[in-house]
Amino acid sequence: MNKTSHSPIQWVYSANEPQFKSYQLNNFREIPQIGKLTEQQKFDIEVVGNVLPFKANNYVIEQLIDWDKAPDDPIFALTFPQKEMLSREHYDEMAQLLQNGAEKSVIKAAANRIRMQLNPHPAGQADHNVPVFEGETLHGVQHKYRQTVLFFPSQGQTCHAYCTFCFRWPQFIGLTDIKFASREIEKLVSYVKQHTEITDILFTGGDPMIMSAKNFSGYVDALLDADLPNLINIRIGTKALAYWPHKFVDDADTEEMLALFRRVKAAGKQLALMAHFNHPRELEGEIVARAILNLKDAGVTIRTQSPVMAHINDDPDTWAKMWEKQVKLGCIPYYMFLARDTGAQHYFSVPLVRAWQIFREAYQQVSGLARTVRGPSMSASPGKIQILGVADAGEKKLITMRFLQGRNPDWVQRPFFAEYDESAHWIDDLKPAFGEQKFFFEDEMERMYHTHRHDSTADDFE
Ligand SMILES: *Cc1c(COP(=O)(O)O)cnc(C)c1O
Ligand code: SF4
Repeated sequence: MNKTSHSPIQWVYSANEPQFKSYQLNNFREIPQIGKLTEQQKFDIEVVGNVLPFKANNYVIEQLIDWDKAPDDPIFALTFPQKEMLSREHYDEMAQLLQNGAEKSVIKAAANRIRMQLNPHPAGQADHNVPVFEGETLHGVQHKYRQTVLFFPSQGQTCHAYCTFCFRWPQFIGLTDIKFASREIEKLVSYVKQHTEITDILFTGGDPMIMSAKNFSGYVDALLDADLPNLINIRIGTKALAYWPHKFVDDADTEEMLALFRRVKAAGKQLALMAHFNHPRELEGEIVARAILNLKDAGVTIRTQSPVMAHINDDPDTWAKMWEKQVKLGCIPYYMFLARDTGAQHYFSVPLVRAWQIFREAYQQVSGLARTVRGPSMSASPGKIQILGVADAGEKKLITMRFLQGRNPDWVQRPFFAEYDESAHWIDDLKPAFGEQKFFFEDEMERMYHTHRHDSTADDFE
C-alpha cells in the first residue's frame, strides 16, 4: 500500500525515454527556475508545503509554468503552495516553528493540528459509500450511484504532481486511511457480477495512470477475463495528459499500456479516459496532442473535466478556450465542478452565482460540439447538483438547480429553487425558496442517513 507522496517511481532510463523527476519539499530549491522567486516566496512554499501536500515534476516546471509570471501564473498556483492558502494564524504558527529551527516532531504535530482544522473529511470521502458484499466490507470501492462503481487500486494512490486545490489532500499525507483489501480485484469482480445494474467501473485515486502498464493490466485483464456481461465502460480518472503526457507517447511501457487499451476495445468494452485539465495551457504542447492521438488510435474516448477555481481558471474566456482546444484535439467536454469545502477552499472557491456566470459566458462562445459539458456541479452528499442559473420570478430572483446524479435516482432532473444568494459557495449555504424549511430531498436524505449508517455523508470523485 502506497498512500504517501514519497514513494519513488521506478523508471527505466535509456537514451530515448523522458526522465521523470519529481520535486517536493525536500528538493524544490534545486529547481533551476526557482531562482525567479524571492527568498520570501520560497519560504512561503516551505511553510504551506509543511501543512498541505506539494509535488511538482520536470514536465510541469519546464513545459507548463510561465516562470516570468510566477507566482501569479495559473499553473504555478495550481502546483506550488501559495501563502494565502493558509489563514494568517496558521501561516504564522508554522512560519515561526520553521524560523526557530523547531524539531521535526514539533513541526509535524503542529502541521497535524492545523490540518484537522481544514475540514479534512468534507463529505466522508472514500470511507463512505463503501459496499458490503457477502458480509465483508469492500475496501477501495465506492458505490454511490447505481450504474457506476469507483475503484481505488492500491498502487494508484499518488499523482505525477499535486493540485494545490485537491480535496483528496488528506490521502496524500496519510491523514485519510483508505483501506485496501489484499485481493481487491477479485472481490470487485464478484460484486459487479452480482450487481447487474453496474455498467461502469471508474478507476480513480490519486491517479491510476501513475501505475505501470504491468500493474494496471493486472486489474483490467482480471475484469476482461471475468467476462462481465453488464460491464460496458471501463473509465480511468486521470490527470496524466496534463501532468505527464509522456505516459502515452514515449515512456518505457507506453506500447504496453496502449496494447492493454486495445484489448479492452477488442473485448467489446469502451475505455473512457476522464481527463482532468484545469487550464488551456495544459493542452498546448505538441506532446499532449500526440498523446491524445495515440489514445484515440487505441480506441480510447477522452472526456474532460475540471473544477472552476480562483487564481487558476475563474474567467469565461479561459473555459471557452479550454473547451475549444479539447474539441479540436478530439476530446469531449464533460463536467465543470465547484470547489469542495476542504483544505484551502477559501483561497480557490468561486461563489455559485459567479461560477454559473462563467459557465454561461463560456458556453455561449463555443460550438454545440463543446456544449456536451455540464455544470457548474457540486459533488455533495445527496448527489451531483448542477446550478442551472438565476431566474427572475416576478419581483424575486431565485437560484435554480437540479440533480445530475442523485443518491436516489428519482431526484434527478427535477428543477428546484433557492433564495438568491451571491455569496453562497455550496448547497449548505443556500436557503430553499418560497419560505420552505427544507429542500425536497432533505427528509429522504435524512432517512437514508439513518438506515445506512455506513452510507452517511457524501463523498467525492474526480
Ligand atoms: C461523479 C461520480 C460518478 C460518475 O458520475 P457520472 O455522472 O456517471 O460521470 C460516480 N460515482 C461518484 C461517487 C461520483 O461522484
Ligand atoms: S486533483 Fe487529481 S491529479 Fe490533482 S492532486 Fe488531486 S487526485 Fe491528483
